[in-house]
Amino acid sequence: NKQVIFRGYVSGSPEETDMEVRESTVTLGVPEGSGGVLVKNLYLSCDPYMRLRMRKLDLPSYRDSFEPGSPITGYGVARVLESGHPNFKKGDLVWGMTGWEQYSLITVPETCFKIEHSDVPLSYYIGLLGMPGMTAYAGFFEVCSPKKGETVFISAASGAVGQLVGQFAKLFGCYVVGSAGSKEKVDLLKNKFGFDNAFNYKEELDLDAALKRCFPKGIDIYFENVGGKMLNTVLLNMKLHGRIAVCGMISQYNLEQPEGVHNLMNLILKRVRMEGFLVTDYYHLYPKFLETVLPQIKEGKIEYVEDIAEGLEKGPAALVGLFSGRNVGKQVVVVS
Ligand code: NDP
Repeated sequence: NKQVIFRGYVSGSPEETDMEVRESTVTLGVPEGSGGVLVKNLYLSCDPYMRLRMRKLDLPSYRDSFEPGSPITGYGVARVLESGHPNFKKGDLVWGMTGWEQYSLITVPETCFKIEHSDVPLSYYIGLLGMPGMTAYAGFFEVCSPKKGETVFISAASGAVGQLVGQFAKLFGCYVVGSAGSKEKVDLLKNKFGFDNAFNYKEELDLDAALKRCFPKGIDIYFENVGGKMLNTVLLNMKLHGRIAVCGMISQYNLEQPEGVHNLMNLILKRVRMEGFLVTDYYHLYPKFLETVLPQIKEGKIEYVEDIAEGLEKGPAALVGLFSGRNVGKQVVVVS
């Protein structure tokens, strides 16, 4: 059983060498009466929150840190090989928390979702049809309270979550602009995902001028993925009664001391609602989400770009690549 082992707590930027690929000789099976499920992992997900689990910390309502010397864990798509749980049987496809290894024993299978629709790429269940898709859906529709015709800005817009927020907002009838870190990503935003405009934040000397160029009358909704300087500048450009959905702050994850946030007075002056959220609070909406999105995929109304790393050996590089923007679209690791 090939595994990706977490070597020890990380400070600063994570490196490939913070993980190592090893072969385990332990034979896995479902212990009698345990209620567990043995799975063969097919696809593993690289997600920014995994960086937070690489340090020794307990953020309230966040997942535990990884355990040094053990395989890292994360979202994956897997096939059931052996089941001790009444809800799952051999051959079922599932998505949920699993190990970065070829085979995993899932001890709390209730946390997994059974995959009922396999006529789409199965890797979508760690992206478009999985946690990131639900994040975009719940974040936009439940937290942003959008209205037709409003102006929407999304940072890290070409990523797993951002590309979907933009497409949901466009389908809903909003004016949508995204920022991303390369020309290739900006082209995707404009030409594949149908954003009204996009810019490369790494090439804009003056972020405030870039936002004023794209939003001469201001921003109604900001879908926040990055934090830091971008947030400080967006705060200067919000419209009256605007909303900021705080989804993530990837620019802060490698810092020992988070940067300060400036310009918060604008929340008062513009009566802006700024609200953080966690996708796990919205999983009860998953059936409704599938009902909405599956037809949109089949009708070609939604595009999804994935960045595929082949093999567990490529997992560590793929994961740390998120923090330099190496991934173009949803970063997936193919195990089998
Ligand atoms: P992405 O697929 O967007 O990958 C991360 C991207 O972030 C990189 O490709 C890079 O794109 C950008 N990035 C990396 N470092 C920086 C930096 N220092 N400053 C600005 N941008 C940076 O990730 P996801 O779509 O999966 O996640 C997006 C955000 O959503 C993250 O903050 C994540 O933590 C959050 N999230 C929150 C959830 C919740 O429940 N609240 C659930 C899921 C995700 P670029 O080249 O454009 O810089």
